Amino acid sequence: VYAGRSDELSLVTTMPALARAARTAHTLVGAVRAAQAAAPRAPGAPVFGTLAGGLSTLVDAAERAGGATVRRDATVRELHRTATGWRLTVGSTRDAAHVEADAVLLAVPARPAARLLAGPAPVVAETVGVLDYASVALVTMALPEPELPELSGFLVPAGEGLLIKASTFFTTKWGHLRRPDGLALVRASVGRYGDETALQLTDDDLATTVHRELSKVLGTPLPAPVAGHVQRWGGALPQYAPGHLDRVAAARAALRADHPTLALAGAGYDGVGIPVCVRSGETAAEEIITALGGSAA
Ligand SMILES: Cc1cc2nc3c(=O)[nH]c(=O)nc-3n(C[C@H](O)[C@H](O)[C@H](O)COP(=O)(O)OP(=O)(O)OC[C@H]3O[C@@H](n4cnc5c(N)ncnc54)[C@H](O)[C@@H]3O)c2cc1C
Repeated sequence: VYAGRSDELSLVTTMPALARAARTAHTLVGAVRAAQAAAPRAPGAPVFGTLAGGLSTLVDAAERAGGATVRRDATVRELHRTATGWRLTVGSTRDAAHVEADAVLLAVPARPAARLLAGPAPVVAETVGVLDYASVALVTMALPEPELPELSGFLVPAGEGLLIKASTFFTTKWGHLRRPDGLALVRASVGRYGDETALQLTDDDLATTVHRELSKVLGTPLPAPVAGHVQRWGGALPQYAPGHLDRVAAARAALRADHPTLALAGAGYDGVGIPVCVRSGETAAEEIITALGGSAA
């Protein structure tokens, strides 16, 4: 999930429920059981959830529901404090524009956040900039009637010596993607934190290697794909090292004290799952509204 090494990741950030349970349970199995018991799933409720039209529809829905003006492809390059709020420098150096704002919520990954914070809050910038990221590539293939186990997918431990680190059988995992003609969509992810050699392969070589490794893991030669897609995500998966939550708390406390109308939200701070990111954004927005003297209700 994190494309990282479990012994280098903060338990309390990556698995907060397990970390809570581990404070009283004496074994790992006991802690897992206690965490599961503390959050029981309704019988028959699905393990996974998604949006039928794809996750990008979430962005469009948020835009519509919020009634906000959304500017895409507008990189913020600088952030300056003004007498009344903030000035953002947006766009390329040749075609820069300024945006004046009462408040700023930085919902960008840690590296761009650190660059933007370097002017107004250099110590916070340094704290935020500690977070490192893993890069991954996703190889998706459409396979005509492959023999797949009735699973949503599988994870591959680093010690197996394979390039693939996980695979998802889309057409098994998501009922709405099942096709009457038996065409299966299978996706594999490649790339682990600290070992990016796999990502230097060309798209074609990645697809060939993934196809070969999947056949090996599944113990059956997979049919040749009728279509494929390679998507690269550079620096996309945060590697929350131990102490991450303390660093985030310190960064937020410093901002609250010196710049209450500047807040941080998103996966760089509160966790990687989309529900956590949404909650993180809502909490930060409420703080900013309060700082501006409004009511978050
Ligand atoms: C391959 C992959 C699969 C995943 N699968 C799942 C999953 O199944 N379920 C799940 O819950 N989570 C999943 N995640 C995690 C989840 O998608 C992310 O943690 C989440 O999208 C992070 O949201 P965010 O808003 O914090 O950051 P992002 O989604 O990274 O958004 C940050 C935005 O800031 C923009 N930006 C950066 N710098 C600037 C700048 N200077 N100026 C303006 N804009 C800027 C970026 O372009 C980007 O649009 C997955 C992640 C990856 C990489």
